[in-house]
Amino acid sequence: MGMRDVVFPSGSVFLVTGAAGFIGSNICEALIDMGCRVRALDNLSTGRLGNIKTLLSSALFEFVEGDITESEVCLHACRGVTYVLHQAALGSVPRSMEFPLIYESNNIAGTANMMDAALRQGVKRFVYASSSSVYGDSAELPKIEGREGAELSPYALTKKINEEYASLYTRVFGLPCIGLRYFNVFGRRQDPNSQYSAVIPKFIAALKRGERVEFYGDGTQSRDFTYIDNVIEANLKACLAGKEADGKAFNIAFGQRFTLLEMYGLMCSLLGLEREPRFMPERPGDVKHSLADISRARTLLGYDPSYDFESGFRAALEWYNDNWS
Ligand code: NAD
Repeated sequence: MGMRDVVFPSGSVFLVTGAAGFIGSNICEALIDMGCRVRALDNLSTGRLGNIKTLLSSALFEFVEGDITESEVCLHACRGVTYVLHQAALGSVPRSMEFPLIYESNNIAGTANMMDAALRQGVKRFVYASSSSVYGDSAELPKIEGREGAELSPYALTKKINEEYASLYTRVFGLPCIGLRYFNVFGRRQDPNSQYSAVIPKFIAALKRGERVEFYGDGTQSRDFTYIDNVIEANLKACLAGKEADGKAFNIAFGQRFTLLEMYGLMCSLLGLEREPRFMPERPGDVKHSLADISRARTLLGYDPSYDFESGFRAALEWYNDNWS
C-alpha cells in the first residue's frame, strides 16, 4: 500500500515542471525526502519560490527559472534527465473561460515543447498532469477512461490535446508518455488567496477571514476530492510502470464523491466554525458531478491510494491551521 514499494534505479534524475506550484512542490519534496536528484523548472507565474524554499538548500535540488513555451529552455532542462514529471500549466476552468488564448500557448504549445525536448534528450518516461475535466459533458458516473464527453472549457480542451500529443509521441516517436487525470486535488500549499483558487482552500480562506463562503449552484454538485499524497504516489509509480501503461491516461482520485455541502459541513466542524454560505448562480464550464473509476490506475500503475477524503482533509486543515498568517 502507498509508496513503500517505490524504489528508483540508482542515478535516476527527475525533472519536475511547475515545481513552484502546489502539486509540483509536493512532488519535489517527496523526491528529495527519498534522496533523489531533482531539477525543478517554473516560470513563477502562479507558483511561488516560497513553496520550495526548504528544498533550495539541498545539494540534490536545482531550481531553473524558465518558461516551457521556450523550446531552448525545455531542451536544457531535460538534459541528463531520466524521468520528467510535467506539472506546469495554467489551471482553473473559470480563468480559461475568460482568457482562452493564453491557455493555447501555455498549456498546449508548452507541453508539446516539453515532450519534444524529452524525446531529444532520451528521457525514459514522460509523466504529465491531465485532468478530470476531459470527461466534459458526459453525465456517466463513475468516469472511465475511454468514455469522455465533449469538453466544456478551453482548459479541458488543452488537457485533451495534451493527451493526443502524448499518444502520438508514444506511438510514432517512441517517447513513453503517461497521463494522469487528476480529480480535484487538495492539500498543503494549495493557494487559498487567488480569485481562481480551488474550492477547498478558497472556503478555508473565507472562513479564516470571517467571510461567508460562496457556492456556485445549490451545493449539491459532487467531487472526488483527492489528497495530494495520493497524487504524489501516482506520479512516482507511473515512472516505474510497465510498458503497457505507455500512451495511456489514467484517472487519479480516491474513488468516492462528496457534495460541496458535505465537504463544507465537515470543514466547519473540523475548524470549529459555523457560517451560513451564500448561494450564487452556477458557473459555466463547471461539471455537475465527478467520480472516478480508478481500476485502470490500480491495474497498470499499481496505484493504491492511502488517503481517503476524510483522512486527507484532516491533514490538510491541520496544515492550514499551522501555517495561517
Ligand atoms: P499551480 O498553479 O499551483 O502550479 C502550476 C505551476 O506551473 C505554477 O508554479 C506555475 O508558475 C507553473 N507554470 C505555469 N505555466 C508555466 C510555464 N509556461 N512555464 C513554466 N512554468 C509554468 O497548479 P497545480 O494545482 O499545482 O497544478 C499542477 C498541474 O496539475 C497542472 O497541470 C494542472 O492543470 C493539473 N491539475 C491540477 C488539479 C488540481 O486539482 N489542483 C486538477 C487537475 C489537473
